[in-house]
Amino acid sequence: MIDQNVEPIDLFIIGGGINGCGIARDAAGRGLSVTLAEMNDLASATSSASTKLFHGGLRYLEYFEFRLVREALVEREVLLKAMPHISWPMRFVLPYHEDMRFESDTPTSRLLSFIMPWMKGRRPAWLIRLGLFLYDNLGGRKILPGTKTLGLRGTAEGAPLEDRFAKAYEYSDCWIEDSRLVILNARDAEARGAMILPRTKVLSAARDGDLWRIETQNTESGETRTHTAKMLVNAGGPWVGDIIQTKVRLNSKEGVRLVRGSHIVTRKLYDHDKCYFFQGTDGRIIFAIPYETDFTLIGTTDAEHDDPANKPVCTPEEQSYLLNFANQYFKQDLTDADVVWTYSGVRPLYDDGASSATAATRDYTLKVDANGGAPVLNIFGGKITTYRRLAESALEKIAEQLPNVKGPWTAGVTLPGGDFPVDGFDAQVAKLQDAFPFLDAFWARRLVRAYGTEAPAILGTAKEAGDLGRDFGATLTEAEVHWLMTHEYAHTAEDVVWRRNKLGLRLSAEQITALDAWMAEHRHSLSKAAE
Ligand SMILES: Cc1cc2nc3c(=O)[nH]c(=O)nc-3n(C[C@H](O)[C@H](O)[C@H](O)COP(=O)(O)OP(=O)(O)OC[C@H]3O[C@@H](n4cnc5c(N)ncnc54)[C@H](O)[C@@H]3O)c2cc1C
Repeated sequence: MIDQNVEPIDLFIIGGGINGCGIARDAAGRGLSVTLAEMNDLASATSSASTKLFHGGLRYLEYFEFRLVREALVEREVLLKAMPHISWPMRFVLPYHEDMRFESDTPTSRLLSFIMPWMKGRRPAWLIRLGLFLYDNLGGRKILPGTKTLGLRGTAEGAPLEDRFAKAYEYSDCWIEDSRLVILNARDAEARGAMILPRTKVLSAARDGDLWRIETQNTESGETRTHTAKMLVNAGGPWVGDIIQTKVRLNSKEGVRLVRGSHIVTRKLYDHDKCYFFQGTDGRIIFAIPYETDFTLIGTTDAEHDDPANKPVCTPEEQSYLLNFANQYFKQDLTDADVVWTYSGVRPLYDDGASSATAATRDYTLKVDANGGAPVLNIFGGKITTYRRLAESALEKIAEQLPNVKGPWTAGVTLPGGDFPVDGFDAQVAKLQDAFPFLDAFWARRLVRAYGTEAPAILGTAKEAGDLGRDFGATLTEAEVHWLMTHEYAHTAEDVVWRRNKLGLRLSAEQITALDAWMAEHRHSLSKAAE
């Protein structure tokens, strides 16, 4: 279908990960007409496969990435206030042992081996304290508590760890439900006028004078369509290079470095709500994080990944690496049998020629190409944590190309369901249980974490669980699936149980198949209802 009579839109965005959806929201709120195309489900690639932290990135200090760390530290609290349902503060326990070593090619380790060669690559305690001092003070921390030293003997934090760890440092960062962050940005973008097209692949984009002509294909119906836009944004994440070379065909030297990171999930390994930050003898670090009430999340790895078309999976080598790493710290000896789920994502890092995957910059780079007509903005790198700032920087570049773009507005504006105080989560849960007394604690907390102040709208006038329609298991009901299909672009059981929530950890394969069958049966009528 060719939309010949339709006015060209301002911005066409390729990619429905956090960067595409964050830019769509910001741009729509500034009055631009926006269309976003995502070839699969929203957040189906890197943006649902992160470690799920709003963090400054303590270890990036060793790479002297002060700009990135400062921006991310400041941003943690801005984001926390805008989404207190899907993000919350966490304390990180960093056990100290003198065997801890640097990766040999960080600028800090090179400097230290020059001035203190007798350290032989060891990471001294004073350096960790200095790093944590900077971490506490670089970035306008107001809500989150600062660093403290912790004795591990006889404490809940020390209990699961091997006896050789006597001392730790404890500092703050925040958790973020990454895939829900993407969905809520897409929804808010749509509420502000953007058109969000999941399951729509961009086949090509060509300059036609001052405009772009973009061919898309609906990946389910096969229907093709032509869109015209004044500017193109390439937020293809791991595909950014592929889009430059094969879809837009730019003559560009910009490169992307694909670095896979894998996580493993085990049953809950300890009984408190803090995370661990483990340093390895190889200079790398991993986290062990309380996950989905009954589980522990462990990650991540850094492995070169050759092609975005190859779906990233946690290889047996990566799984062993993570288990062995965790086993250097936990008393309990973890084996493959303890792993209940794994996931992997590919970091689309700007190719800055760094020598190792671990060392490649995590900062973002935005490049406009306006040679030969209509402009395109290519996005490289970035973190979940800096997505809002990345969108603001993108809009600055866009404003250089398009007239009358309004100023920044997203700082301090809540995402759907996030209009309650940062410390108001428990009060929201109590309120929901008051209104719907049939909800148990797990169910009520899960709903408030996912939907915040929108949870009552999903439950409607229900007086008992049976009023919510079919029970798909693990507290997932027809009423919630209905909401996800009509309000949150969910199409398949996979969209629901791995990206809108993580009930895939609790549902059996048969239950997921039954959910998928129900969704297939109701898809047509529900998507019509949503129009
Ligand atoms: C293992 C790991 C751990 C991480 N941990 C953290 C963390 O704890 N905190 C943090 O802040 N950051 C973290 N990150 C970084 C963060 O996840 C990424 O920087 C971010 O998700 C990238 O988002 P994106 O939108 O650029 O890419 P993506 O989420 O990959 O989105 C790009 C989208 O473009 C779509 N697309 C591609 N080609 C086309 C086409 N032709 N047509 C239509 N659509 C197309 C893809 O389907 C994809 O959905 C982590 C990353 C990894 C891999």
